[in-house]
Amino acid sequence: MPNNTGISQAALKLIEKKVMEMRPQDRLCTLCMDEISLKTNLSYNLPEDKIISLEDFGGCYRTNKVATSALVLLIRSISGKWKQPIGYYLANGACPTNVMEDVMKEAIDKLEGIGLDIVVVMSDQGSNFYSLAQRLQVSPERPWFIHNNKMYFLMFDPPHLIKSVRNNLMKYSLRFDQNVATWKDIEVVYEKDSSLPIRSTPKLTEKHIHPNNFQKMKVKLATQVMSHTVAAAICMYVSLGLLPPTAMGTAELIEKFDSVFDCVNSSTLHSTKKLKCAISDQTTRITFMKEAMGFIKRLQVMQGNINVTGRIKCLKGWLITLKAIISIWEHLKTKHNFKFLLTRRLNTDPLENFFGTIRQQGGNSDNPTPVQFSSAFRKLFFSPFLTSSTGNCAADFDDLLANFEKKVKARPVISTPTPQHTGTLEIGPVDYREDAIDSNIVKDNAIAYVAGYLLHKCLKIHTCPKCTDELQCNNLDDNRKLFCYFKAYDQTEGTFGGLHAPSQSFLNYVIELENTFFKHFSVYTKSLSVGANIMKLLKKIPVPFKCCDNFPVDYLQKLFLRLRIYYSLKFANRDFSNTKLKNRKYMKVAHL
Ligand SMILES: [Zn+2]
Repeated sequence: MPNNTGISQAALKLIEKKVMEMRPQDRLCTLCMDEISLKTNLSYNLPEDKIISLEDFGGCYRTNKVATSALVLLIRSISGKWKQPIGYYLANGACPTNVMEDVMKEAIDKLEGIGLDIVVVMSDQGSNFYSLAQRLQVSPERPWFIHNNKMYFLMFDPPHLIKSVRNNLMKYSLRFDQNVATWKDIEVVYEKDSSLPIRSTPKLTEKHIHPNNFQKMKVKLATQVMSHTVAAAICMYVSLGLLPPTAMGTAELIEKFDSVFDCVNSSTLHSTKKLKCAISDQTTRITFMKEAMGFIKRLQVMQGNINVTGRIKCLKGWLITLKAIISIWEHLKTKHNFKFLLTRRLNTDPLENFFGTIRQQGGNSDNPTPVQFSSAFRKLFFSPFLTSSTGNCAADFDDLLANFEKKVKARPVISTPTPQHTGTLEIGPVDYREDAIDSNIVKDNAIAYVAGYLLHKCLKIHTCPKCTDELQCNNLDDNRKLFCYFKAYDQTEGTFGGLHAPSQSFLNYVIELENTFFKHFSVYTKSLSVGANIMKLLKKIPVPFKCCDNFPVDYLQKLFLRLRIYYSLKFANRDFSNTKLKNRKYMKVAHL
């Protein structure tokens, strides 16, 4: 199942079955893309013998960089009630624009291959999606691109756009038609209003006026400020002489964007607020949206006396989005016989909700690790049809899912990076790679300790006096054995507390294993069979010690490898958590 990056054949097959049952109209859908930040954390997938949580754009395109974000793709019916996540990719920092284009086009091809009809692609205004729009030569005059001779509309998520307008109003003053809108006017209203027993803007709170970074992400806080109520309150304060007449500019701007947002957020056929109704031939929505485009084109964003309009992406974003929605309506009406269009279907809310759900699992500010993310994604992959479908389809799909889930459970999907034979393993914070234990004696002792542990494990499954005699050493004449001794001191089983001090030849062998591992691990980090590749090299090292034919050399090599992969990742993860967030994207596993 969608256990890996990209869009799997299995996932497509599952969706295809569902698509066959749909009315043709319900097959028209939007493709939503968005990114979520991840907490850097490497782990090892045992069945697949690969290190996960590296940058991974599906197929063979993997790098040695750690993943810091996931790009998620979701499709959603424009008229039907279904939505379906389809795949994800792991990126280091923002996903590069050219990769994003490939990912998008591959998704379109695969989805149309199973009978879906993608009408529009959308995302928020994250800088990379904005660059993608530019790369595809999308503009307010031409809110679409051509792929395989078919026209695809492109738009930005309206809730993100309204937040951007609010953010810009907080920072700059906005001029239009001899008027000027400023955040200051809203602050004054809030101050005066909050001291009154009966407030004209009861919904406004401190969070609306001075939102922190987290609160800035909440759409509701933005729409409640950019609302008809606040515009009306400003007008009232102006007429009472409590605000200067210039504040009317602020009221007008807010009123305008409130209406624009209603237009692109309609969820019902009938509403008392005319602009909140679905777009249809009977409504004046299209005329209003064209007027709004004219208004937005006339806006000038001022930083003091400097005109910074050119820098403000959300204005161009609004123009593209409004024109796209007008064009989508024309397309659906003429080509697909739509009688109305609920514009709220044209946003990336389902993705936002999904991100919200998985963030909540780790406390609101915590980002998921790649493993947590992919497991949440698997759950989400199965849930949408179940909860939003009606009638027989849901039941059918239930059956299908039950079968699928059995298969998923039958094999271990994600293995936590824990070596099988931990038992009483007390290697703890002893990493022979660390600067802190750089001096040779400690370094040698650490390896001696690992060798002792490995020997202990081997002699547990191979109880043989000859090998025991040959491979372990009970005297403490050598410095490097001191560590084994001290580590085991408080244990009760014999001199070495159950651990065996390894003989010199056994120790030499483990040192050779270690040298080979260290030399090649970073080379194979991104390979799909990291363990198998290194194992081939370990097998080539001649075994220098004498033992009987039954001594478990193969087990010894495997245990060593498992242990080293586990500790390499563990220490890398510890380093990541000590590194400041902004530096994370430069980290590569090569530095293990
Ligand atoms: Zn033996």
